[in-house]
Amino acid sequence: MAKKEKGSSKPCPKMRYSFLRILTGSDLSRRRLPLMSAVSANAGPVVWLTACGHGDEVGGIVIIQEVFKRLRRRLTCGAVHAFPLMNPLGFETASRNITMSREDLNRSFPGNPAGSLGERIAHRIFTAIVETKPALVLDLHNDWMESIPYVLLDREPGPGHKAAYQQAIAAGRQAGFCVIVDTEELNKALSYSLLLHDVPALTLELGKAHVVSEANVTFGLEAIWNILAHLGMTAPRENVFHYPLPEAYGGGRLLSYSDRPYGSKTGIIRFLAKSGQEVRAGQPFARIVNAFGKLQETVVAASDAIVLGHSDTSAAFPGMPIMAFGVAPAARDCRAGGSGGRITGNG
Ligand SMILES: [Zn+2]
Repeated sequence: MAKKEKGSSKPCPKMRYSFLRILTGSDLSRRRLPLMSAVSANAGPVVWLTACGHGDEVGGIVIIQEVFKRLRRRLTCGAVHAFPLMNPLGFETASRNITMSREDLNRSFPGNPAGSLGERIAHRIFTAIVETKPALVLDLHNDWMESIPYVLLDREPGPGHKAAYQQAIAAGRQAGFCVIVDTEELNKALSYSLLLHDVPALTLELGKAHVVSEANVTFGLEAIWNILAHLGMTAPRENVFHYPLPEAYGGGRLLSYSDRPYGSKTGIIRFLAKSGQEVRAGQPFARIVNAFGKLQETVVAASDAIVLGHSDTSAAFPGMPIMAFGVAPAARDCRAGGSGGRITGNG
């Protein structure tokens, strides 16, 4: 029988912290993924939270811990499961990829039980998630250091998966962040692979990779709480969370991702726009100077957009992204410079 909260007739959810084995090391040590579950006595949707698939994107681990602290008393139906640390091997060496095999775990899904190390770990994660028939999976990532939090939706996965995609969009619109549709097809990413299996999934890009940012922990927690309340798994919110955004870019509008134009010179970048700021087409957003301070290039916005973030480095090279933008639908058609894929990025 489910335990009851003190002074309340509400049954508390059953909390379970366990592990999923992923490999045995050369010293015969067992490596495992921590697995968290909060299961209500009342039937309802199943939601998964995943984090740190990229080992240097650490903020999501703490967001999941904080969500679970709240769930202990406030999950009213359904279940929330989480892999807070999907890539402990990368995390311990502060690297994006799985250290030993140099594989990007988030380009290894749905995985393969007889494949490479990354594919085997991905397969174990993917199978554990899919067999619970989730209503939603939220994969937590951290973009550039100077980056606002945003929802990253995959590209439309094809007409056969429309229902799952529409549910992912509906959930993304509840987060209170700006909602960005990716322009690159990351077809081995966790979220995209789940959509191809008709599981609604999306990525939360929470900014400030490498370290836990307490401000972004709060934003992530509030965004997830918006979504859980929307799914009816927690009480309706009196104050729905909204990240402060310029009007044209909030309200759940679907914006498209762009990191164009790239710079074409080598030098030192001086950023002229900040993350969260609105820029107009033709507005300079970066200057590239040489070692003596002489201007080499001024890079201007291709369309009206919101700045999502800027590069972690001020070293400029031709063809390297300097800034990432969310482009409003009306501005998309007049965008110059093509919509080519990212060279780097965190998705
Ligand atoms: Zn990432």
